[in-house]
Amino acid sequence: AAKQRGKAAYVRYLPEMAVPVLAHMQLGGELRRALDEGEFELYYQPVMALRTGRVIGVEALVRWRHPVRGMVPPVEFIPAAERTGLIVELGQFVLDEACRQAAAWLAELGPQALQKVAVNVSARQLHDPGFVGDVLAALEEHALPTDRLVLELTESAVLRGTQVSLALRELDGHGIKLALDDFGTGESSLSLLRAFPAAIVKLDKSFVDGIEIDDADPAARDARQAVARAVIQLAGALRLDAVAEGIENEEQAELLRALGYTLGQGFHLARPMPAGALAELLREQVAAAGTAVRTA
Ligand code: C2E
Ligand code: MG
Ligand code: MG
Ligand code: MG
Repeated sequence: AAKQRGKAAYVRYLPEMAVPVLAHMQLGGELRRALDEGEFELYYQPVMALRTGRVIGVEALVRWRHPVRGMVPPVEFIPAAERTGLIVELGQFVLDEACRQAAAWLAELGPQALQKVAVNVSARQLHDPGFVGDVLAALEEHALPTDRLVLELTESAVLRGTQVSLALRELDGHGIKLALDDFGTGESSLSLLRAFPAAIVKLDKSFVDGIEIDDADPAARDARQAVARAVIQLAGALRLDAVAEGIENEEQAELLRALGYTLGQGFHLARPMPAGALAELLREQVAAAGTAVRTA
């Protein structure tokens, strides 16, 4: 037991080794402990209307508030949580907390404050036979209307098997919105859209990066613009909402607007932030809308 404790302390006090060491088996136990200790929390990144700058929705992004390492981003623990299966329980926490928070904001600020809350879902969760029931239970417990929830799925998560497509159909039947995340990076984006009841596509950040740059590599830039254009046209034809991800400057926002994008996410618009900061943003927005109505 002393040896065990020694090892754990070693991991904690060498933050520069955190990724390679924690990426090892041990991380599984750390994650279990962290979940039991309540160390996971949600940040929220606004999804904004590109013309008005209005917050249309939020995406919940999980963070691990580690007692020593500080805020740990999901790339450092989601893969391990997926391997060990803990993602099912962690994902359930995320879903429940996001529904609770969205319902609280709507109760405080009114139905116009926020249209949707989006939650990322892993393949492993989709394969869990209890998933649909758990989603419906979370919505019901917090009295969040089903059409306020967006589940973000990646193409690879959706690709596998009929059980998953049945679950997706059931969710869609309940009015829950499904979004294809990181769109364009998978192997079969186009064929997938026919089989999948998606309501939203999220153009991957890799097509937004450098989309505005004239000098360095014009061919690469043109290719990104072509993908962004193809995705917005496809979304229009299939009556899907399109969200451009990872917008980091005004030139990118301008170009995406010109291509027809009306919704975007990115550090240039707003970074992921703690619930308290997001609430502040929503309160300001609601107050400004109230003023506009009164002075109109
Ligand atoms: P994602 O769902 O595609 O989320 C977008 C990621 O891009 C977030 O990283 C966000 O902080 C980041 N981002 C947003 N705008 C910009 C920008 O302008 N520039 C740059 N460089 N990055 C931007 P984050 O929070 O680190 O999450 C990374 C990924 O981890 C997510 O990608 C998602 O796949 C996964 N993830 C996050 N939370 C959860 C969760 O609760 N459950 C599951 N299964 N996966 C999650
Ligand atoms: Mg996402
Ligand atoms: Mg994404
Ligand atoms: Mg991503």
